[in-house]
Amino acid sequence: MQQGLFGDESVAQNCIFCKIIAGKAPAHILYRDEQVLSFLDISPVSAGHTLIIPLKHHDNLFTLSGEEMTAVALHAKRLAPIIKRVSKAEGLAIHQLNGRAAGQTVFHYHMHLIPSHHGGPKLIHGRRPAAPSALAEIAADIRQALTKG
Ligand code: 5GP
Ligand code: ZN
Repeated sequence: MQQGLFGDESVAQNCIFCKIIAGKAPAHILYRDEQVLSFLDISPVSAGHTLIIPLKHHDNLFTLSGEEMTAVALHAKRLAPIIKRVSKAEGLAIHQLNGRAAGQTVFHYHMHLIPSHHGGPKLIHGRRPAAPSALAEIAADIRQALTKG
């Protein structure tokens, strides 16, 4: 378990996104630096549905620092056109839920980037897990596009 990222070790042990950060749970990771991690949503609304999280655990927006929010936003700005292109989408929706009342289901701050298609679903949550092979394939394509800039 990485040290220094969590205010409370018990939070890290119970949070699925902290487990992904620590390499204790699998994910199709797109990018990581010293502040943020991006990976594919396990139950995508559409192919390429991505989550961006700060490495430090925050339940939601209310405790996130401006610096962490900026890091997430800058990564979203870089990733959005790449995801849109790789998934051959016509648009891209960004959603970010804070609190159970808002529909949040995983309590580690995250931003959704969801490729949108004319006539496609306008949802925030997908209905079922995607095939791991499909996730692996699009993750590889996005990672490759990211390395090209
Ligand atoms: P929220 O409702 O909190 O905004 O969205 C949580 C998102 O996390 C959902 O879209 C859900 O599919 C996704 N999710 C939940 N558990 C996992 C997981 O273990 N791995 C990945 N990659 N995504 C997850
Ligand atoms: Zn966490």
